[in-house]
Amino acid sequence: MNNSDQSQRFLFEDHPIRGQHVSLDQSWQEIAQQGGLEGRGLSLLGEALVVVALLVDTLKIEGSVTLQIRGTGPLELLVVEANSKHEIRGTARQVGEIDEQADIQQIFGSDVLVITIKTEGAEPHQGIAPLRGIKLSDALEYYFATSEQLPTHFCLTCDAKNASGMLIQKIPGKLKDDDAWDRVLHLAATVTDDELQRLALGDLLRRLFNEETLRLFDSRTIKFACSCSRERTAAMLLSLGKAEASEILESEGEISVSCEFCSANYSFDQIDVEQVFGEGGAAPPNATTH
Ligand SMILES: [Zn+2]
Repeated sequence: MNNSDQSQRFLFEDHPIRGQHVSLDQSWQEIAQQGGLEGRGLSLLGEALVVVALLVDTLKIEGSVTLQIRGTGPLELLVVEANSKHEIRGTARQVGEIDEQADIQQIFGSDVLVITIKTEGAEPHQGIAPLRGIKLSDALEYYFATSEQLPTHFCLTCDAKNASGMLIQKIPGKLKDDDAWDRVLHLAATVTDDELQRLALGDLLRRLFNEETLRLFDSRTIKFACSCSRERTAAMLLSLGKAEASEILESEGEISVSCEFCSANYSFDQIDVEQVFGEGGAAPPNATTH
């Protein structure tokens, strides 16, 4: 497949409109493997991964974009992240059956989604958007229209093998003709799931917008990677505090932490924990077991 695990940007030459297309194959299959998800639970995870992959490139972020929804519905947690190295990771927790007719508020049992943008050397920027609409794309379009003041259209699709999507955004500037944005939106809305998933971007854009002049940029390869590490887990223990750490140690014999994104396991015994808390002149947490 031409699009395999790619992110690619495009521009409308005659209008202040930009776009991004993402297609995830291998990277999505690795994340989808985590199990416990089915039907819309699985497709929402895939679609959300496509969203953060689209945003990290569209907004040209040097850092990461995280989208998170927590609630009390059958899909009680969803966290996805993409970074400027084109690495993605994500997890979701399904605890009940999802009604195929339910809207996203009911599925998550939540009213909001949280988008966090982290860039190096700056405070993280957090945007909170109401979770409204039937589909994830409805909530995101509302978020961009209100908080970011950037009209944005998302098409998202996902099955067990592939998650794909396209974003089209009107950026500040004057349209050549008043109808251009509506025309582009109307044409974009005609895209089928199959076209989004199977066509090379050049062919897809020719099929959708054959009257427009478009410029395509080089594509980037996306892969699944997790940023967890023993050092980060040790830092988490530190923030948990010594009292709580000792309590777990006493009842469990060791502290075992599993990464929810990649299932990597980090365990800390009594000596490790003492080192983490810097006791007895021990080495700092960075230099634990090797
Ligand atoms: Zn991990």
